[in-house]
Amino acid sequence: MAACGSNSLMWFRKGLRLHDNPALEYAAKGSKFLYPVFVIDPHYMEPDPTAFSTGSSKVGLNRIQFLLESLVDLDLSLKKLGSRLLVLKGDPGDVLIRCLKEWSIGKLCFEYDTELYYQALDEKVKTYASVTGVEIFSPVSHTLYNPADIMQKNGGSPPLSYQSFLKLAGQPSWASTPLSTAISSLPPIGNTGSFTLSGVPTVRELDYGDLAEDERTPFKGGESEALKRLRESIANKEWIANFEKPKGDPSAFLKPATTVLSPYLKFGCLSSRYFYQCIQDIQKSVKKHTSPPVSLLGQLLWRDFFYTVAFGTPNFDQMKGNRICKQIPWKNDDELLAAWRDSRTGFPWIDAIMTQLRKWGWMHHLARHSVACFLTRGDLFVHWEKGRDVFERLLIDSDWAINNGNWLWLSCSSFFYQYNRIYSPISFGKKYDPAGNYIRHFLPVLKDMPKEYIYEPWTAPISVQRKAKCIIGLDYPKPVVSHDSASKECRMRLGEAYALNKKLNGLVSEEDLNHLRRKADNESTILDSVSRNKKQKLFD
Ligand code: FAD
Repeated sequence: MAACGSNSLMWFRKGLRLHDNPALEYAAKGSKFLYPVFVIDPHYMEPDPTAFSTGSSKVGLNRIQFLLESLVDLDLSLKKLGSRLLVLKGDPGDVLIRCLKEWSIGKLCFEYDTELYYQALDEKVKTYASVTGVEIFSPVSHTLYNPADIMQKNGGSPPLSYQSFLKLAGQPSWASTPLSTAISSLPPIGNTGSFTLSGVPTVRELDYGDLAEDERTPFKGGESEALKRLRESIANKEWIANFEKPKGDPSAFLKPATTVLSPYLKFGCLSSRYFYQCIQDIQKSVKKHTSPPVSLLGQLLWRDFFYTVAFGTPNFDQMKGNRICKQIPWKNDDELLAAWRDSRTGFPWIDAIMTQLRKWGWMHHLARHSVACFLTRGDLFVHWEKGRDVFERLLIDSDWAINNGNWLWLSCSSFFYQYNRIYSPISFGKKYDPAGNYIRHFLPVLKDMPKEYIYEPWTAPISVQRKAKCIIGLDYPKPVVSHDSASKECRMRLGEAYALNKKLNGLVSEEDLNHLRRKADNESTILDSVSRNKKQKLFD
């Protein structure tokens, strides 16, 4: 069937909202019928019973649930405007092309996405559309700026420091024009032909199996929830004006120290531009406020900074072939990785944070710092890509550009190079929460441990352990490493790797890395899998 100018298709991927959604607005304009579509993509959603936690191979259950809640909310909002969300299943490229054909679509609208996966997918759909004469509208509305514009201003490459990013970015063009935050009506849905349409499925309907879990994320998905959370945050003008990161308590969990808007920004339930304007309005109304990089506006700019670097850096999500990433002979020790992932390191601060990750899918920024540093350059010297994968799966705010950017940062592979500054897995958390309430909540096995020992339970006399009903080595693990010697060794390994990167101007080969790895392993006092049992006595 020939393309017909009066039918349009709005393809939702991220951008799961009505407010500040230029693709949706354009799709609605002058259209007789509008088809709002979301495709359940097996690439992300196919259940994988072999994965280490319930979910698909890439996404843990908390985030799947968050997405489905967001879709339900979007469907309800569309219904209020006389429309609804059409949920389809299959390879999105194939499904979309079928939709374009069957529904005689003349206009295809979707938010521009900088992620590699979507770049490839969008190319396929765009090619089909251009051959068949379908108009494409794909605006940038997930970020504050268009990463390509920033790169162009920088001579074609992304700025590699936050300050240079700020200078290039300037005030966003839309910053002082009110964004469209309400849609009053939408065209109806036309005939859907041979498609099998379902409502938004539940996690059970998607076959994720038995969902018995004692504690699940307290954060509910959707635009309504995002706007409610935003309103609550901005109601406290003083808090917004004085927001200063990295100040703030990473152990605060009943009332987190930051906005917890990240999962809503990730799925686009909240527009980052609308968020920006709300903060800007508050800043204009107060006498004094904090500034980037530490202010709340500064946090949103960090987000755009990482989006820009990620977009302009080939192989951004890996060490090899990534020109901004130091080449470091990380260990590939899956046992140490599993101990970290499954909260079995024996360091309660680290294990509690990793439990919060598994149960809630969200932790405070400094908590993320602690565990990322511990896994990589601080204690275990495990490859940052492995930790990145665990975060990518379990975070409800998991975001390709931001997650990779921060792992590069925390492992001292890029952006930040002060590898001598290591977070202590013992004293860092204690500063904020000397009584260990955060640990007691997420690791109930330690709930009766006296506060003198809660950060180092292996130092508690056996009588104290008995009284607390927690014998170290039996009910809760002994520490996998001695922090003092492990951190010393990590510094040494990084020092050698940095020197090699400098000497070879970054052109470090696999062979060079193996050589360095072997040398350091010979001198090692850190436990590796093979010698762990033998050396475990060290830390008994
Ligand atoms: P707020 O402090 O309220 O900030 C508001 C918004 O600013 C956030 O929602 C987020 O969109 C943005 N922002 C804040 N900090 C950063 C930052 N350092 N970099 C980029 N954007 C930022 N954030 C993600 O959204 N997704 C991830 O996958 C992710 N992975 C991380 C991995 C590691 C190892 C580390 C150290 C940090 C990671 N972060 C990630 C960044 C940061 O920890 C979270 O954005 C923040 O904790 C989310 O909580 P919030 O919404 O309350 O943040």
